[in-house]
Amino acid sequence: MPGFELFGDEERKELNDVLENGVLMRYGFDGMRNGHWKAKELEREIETRFDVKHAQLTSSGTTALNVALAVMGVGAGDEVIMPCFTFVASFESIIASGATPVLVDIDDTLTLDPKAVEAAITPRTKVVMPVHMCGSMAEMDSLKAICDKHNLYLLEDACQAFGGSYKGKMLGTIGDAGTFSFDFVKTITCGEGGAMITNNKDYAVWADQYTDHGHDHQGNDRGAETHPVLGYNFRISELHAAVGLGQIRKMDEFVRIQRRNHGIIKAALSEIPEVTFRRIPDPEGDSCGFLNFFMPTAELSNKVVDAFKAYGIDGYWNYFNNNWHYIRRWEHLKEIKSLFPLSASVKKGLETIGRQSFDQSDALISRNISCLIKLSWTEEEVNDRAARMAEAIKSIL
Ligand SMILES: *Cc1c(COP(=O)(O)O)cnc(C)c1O
Repeated sequence: MPGFELFGDEERKELNDVLENGVLMRYGFDGMRNGHWKAKELEREIETRFDVKHAQLTSSGTTALNVALAVMGVGAGDEVIMPCFTFVASFESIIASGATPVLVDIDDTLTLDPKAVEAAITPRTKVVMPVHMCGSMAEMDSLKAICDKHNLYLLEDACQAFGGSYKGKMLGTIGDAGTFSFDFVKTITCGEGGAMITNNKDYAVWADQYTDHGHDHQGNDRGAETHPVLGYNFRISELHAAVGLGQIRKMDEFVRIQRRNHGIIKAALSEIPEVTFRRIPDPEGDSCGFLNFFMPTAELSNKVVDAFKAYGIDGYWNYFNNNWHYIRRWEHLKEIKSLFPLSASVKKGLETIGRQSFDQSDALISRNISCLIKLSWTEEEVNDRAARMAEAIKSIL
């Protein structure tokens, strides 16, 4: 997955354009920048490649989620339904917006279980936030039907599934808004950065203002601009956007390499009857940034981890024992270790999370192993790796 593996002359050229005139900021300084508008150009590239009307770059994937929640008008007293298997950014952005995260189980897709979502809806629910974890997608038809039925917003976190699709639509473009991360370990990197995409014109205007202190961006005198809404600073810099511009032009190639490497490893592991795979609602749309498989028991999956170590295989996670992606190790959330006082409603929501059990998700995540699919592997290296992985697994059966 990490685009940084294939950082090269394309990114250096875009960066040099910025370095030559020294305008490191995305707004203003029209006369100095010799026509270089890297952030704007990257936004147009995203819109074209994803066939979406509006892209708003941000400082990170986390702030892209913040912006999406803000433009949907989500805040104090509102509840956002999210999966218990995701990156911590999901609940961070919800809490930062003043809303309450409501955590629910995942199913064998490793993303939101539509039944668990429906059961968690209350009169305060405003958003359902599926997270397309580890390259593949949530059950978008079911989730969209639930949102339509209950009049809720659908916000897709596609930070880990850049370039994937569902029934012909790019992930991130199916809900009311979608988000991407361009942090250093994502499929396309800016070093740091993110984006919110939407077809909603109002959201686009508000996102443009909100990410830059409320600036209306009319005219060419920043100081004279008005501030129609309260905002924040979630801007990306021109340097970061330049890197992303070099990267995104290689997006199709990156996804093609991921699919090839993923296919080779999956074929090798498919030969082992005890190994099963996550359900993929639209297999053709898998971005293949990771390969996830299950062992029959948690004990066997722990043994596979040991065997991988012994066979010198790296780049995999058993998320049950990971600090960042699964509820089990989120003590800071469950024990509400906030640096500042939270509202009564958020506190109450977090106390509920602390008491909740996630048996259905535990049973899946404890048996799961998630393998990163790298871009820099040659076909020969992948073949060798696939054979060693299969051998390691067979050695413990
Ligand atoms: C990386 C990631 C984010 C946050 O992105 P940052 O750019 O690191 O803030 C959000 N959600 C998911 C699923 C991610 O993997």
